[in-house]
Amino acid sequence: MKTMSDLRHLPSVDSLLNSPSTLNLITQFGRPQTISVFREVLDQIRKEHSSTKTIPTSDEILDFAEEKLQSRFRLTLLPVINATGTILHTNLGRAPLSQFTLETLQAISTGYNNLEYDLKNGKRGSRSVHAEELLTRLTGAEAATVVNNNAGAVLIVLSAIANRRKVLIPRSQLIEIGGGFRIPDVMKQSGAKLFEIGTTNRIHLSDYENALSEESIKLVMRAHQSNFKIIGFTTEPDFAEIIKISHQFQVPVLDDLGSGTFVDTTQFGLTHEPTIQESVVAGADLITFSGDKLLGGPQAGIIIGKKELIQKIKKHPLARALRPDKLTLAGLSATLIHYLKDEHLTEIPIWRMISASIDSIKIRAAAWQNQIPNSTVIPNLSTIGGGSMPEETLATFVLAVQVNKPDLFLHALRENSPAIVARVENDQVLFDPRTVLPEQDNIFIQNLSLTVQQFL
Ligand SMILES: *Cc1c(COP(=O)(O)O)cnc(C)c1O
Repeated sequence: MKTMSDLRHLPSVDSLLNSPSTLNLITQFGRPQTISVFREVLDQIRKEHSSTKTIPTSDEILDFAEEKLQSRFRLTLLPVINATGTILHTNLGRAPLSQFTLETLQAISTGYNNLEYDLKNGKRGSRSVHAEELLTRLTGAEAATVVNNNAGAVLIVLSAIANRRKVLIPRSQLIEIGGGFRIPDVMKQSGAKLFEIGTTNRIHLSDYENALSEESIKLVMRAHQSNFKIIGFTTEPDFAEIIKISHQFQVPVLDDLGSGTFVDTTQFGLTHEPTIQESVVAGADLITFSGDKLLGGPQAGIIIGKKELIQKIKKHPLARALRPDKLTLAGLSATLIHYLKDEHLTEIPIWRMISASIDSIKIRAAAWQNQIPNSTVIPNLSTIGGGSMPEETLATFVLAVQVNKPDLFLHALRENSPAIVARVENDQVLFDPRTVLPEQDNIFIQNLSLTVQQFL
């Protein structure tokens, strides 16, 4: 006797393909993926089949297949609204790019470009020219080169300059940045030999002098303590003095600034972050920094310094492995132009966020509050983040929303499109206007208010 639980009633792949609504699936997702999902769905039904279960109809199977196809084609890298108040949020992609940077990326990448073509002479050119002139003009350094990220920059400098040779570094600077970047490991990978001096908390000029006079040192390194602070009984010689003594022994100095900023951060009430220009003036022979930390551009590793050393780095085999693509070079150049024009505070998103006045933030928070039930505006703190300026905060005002289940609320916020990421403090969910781009305000408020309704 025929029953609806008989697997013989299951449609075949062919019959599903002949169904009129399949055409729509094939148009959207292509024939190969549609067939593959049909097979998967039919297999699943067969596997889960039991005599008491009814066989799904063709329409049900097609609906199920469409859901599966949609999730197969869903992008995993998605835009997010960052309401956390952490400006350089490493998990949220670090620095958002400026409008001009975006326009440049689009112009360069939608067609062909002169990445390695000399337009003047109609000959093969070099990709390295594109950001280098801007970098030397901005920093006053003799030469510059760009690689994929700053971890790569440090690796190639150590490999090209100090392979099999000793690199002197204080114990207090054997740092680990997030994502597994550890100075001792990078040093090992480059073939350079770590030579530690001083103690965790104190380092004297005589430590440098003794090591330089007794050992055959190829490079002196300073690594910026980007993400932690040593306080209390500490001392460290002036960087210019370290450079002076190293040069007396004809040893070049590498300064890994990490974040690297052109801007004096004290004007915003933050502690002084060593600037790129200061390092150049102090006489560092090589300086490395990130493109997407306080520079506010795309991910990149920037190396500036003495021409002779930069030439050596560019000729190293790793240069090919670490070379930046056209998008990096285009985006970095566009971002650098903002500094050259002295318009970085208004044009580069992270500097607009850092320099935003407390009044302007309070006004935005109050405008949000008008549209969100169960909310208040309270003072709070934004942070810089991105493994830079630890403990450094900027006074801010946040929208504080009271809901019964903050964790479930945060989860629901993340399911919006774009996802909203916020944080909980004292059982209130906080939204910091400082890190929400003003052009996202409308969609943010619309989605936030819809989500809040479900939690009242
Ligand atoms: C962040 C950082 C790095 C790594 O830079 P990426 O651009 O993330 O590769 C290296 N050194 C220091 C001191 C840093 O702060």
